[in-house]
Amino acid sequence: MKYKRILLKLSGEALMGNQQYGIDAERLNQYSEEIKRVKELGIEIAIVIGGGNIFRGVEAEKGGIDRVQGDYMGMLATVINGMALQSNLEKHGMYTRLMSGIKMEQVCEPFIKRRAVRHLEKGRIVIFGAGIGNPYFTTDSTASLRAIELNCDVVLKGTRVDGVYTADPEKVPDAKRYSQVSYREVYEKGLNIMDLTAFTLCQENGLPIIVFDMNKPGNLLRIVKGEEAGTLIN
Ligand code: UDP
Repeated sequence: MKYKRILLKLSGEALMGNQQYGIDAERLNQYSEEIKRVKELGIEIAIVIGGGNIFRGVEAEKGGIDRVQGDYMGMLATVINGMALQSNLEKHGMYTRLMSGIKMEQVCEPFIKRRAVRHLEKGRIVIFGAGIGNPYFTTDSTASLRAIELNCDVVLKGTRVDGVYTADPEKVPDAKRYSQVSYREVYEKGLNIMDLTAFTLCQENGLPIIVFDMNKPGNLLRIVKGEEAGTLIN
């Protein structure tokens, strides 16, 4: 196997499926099945989940809500998604722990690095909710930070597109997909992969990122086996 310990980043929006809001049961089941195929190979899996399907801090101000308050609301949204994912993974027979960047002991453990490592070593899938626990950050930054802290081999950013393109493929019809691209080129060309805080963390720590289409069955498995699917940034 190419990777032994992975950090999978799933956006909240992905969980909506074809809905306008909330969590789509079919999508949740689909993701659990994809994750199970990888778990069965003995890969250690950490997951960071977003909250954009429920609430985003940057949109708060339009709604008359203070930005920082909005960010905390966004973090709570990620815990809701984390709980849904945890429950569905368990329904599919996997062992899981939900760890939160904000203390809420009735529903999840607080994030403690050594405990997270221990869970991974024991084969539990660890889901990180509530982001880093601080406003003005995103779940992409959380993914980069946790991946570095936990010595993950790679950040796998599951999206709706199959990788990074030379331009937005929805606007520029002859845009080409990179199979591999350097951190430097991403900066120079302003390619949109994740926010720069998250991206810089990966670059400074030499953590590779793979952007791939999480909705295509078997893709996650292909990647951990080292097959080409998506774009590798290193
Ligand atoms: N958020 C935050 N700090 C963090 C992680 C998340 O303040 O460490 C807030 C932020 O407001 C963000 C929201 O939680 O908009 C939901 O996360 P995100 O937008 O990253 O979710 P995704 O786009 O992946 O669905």
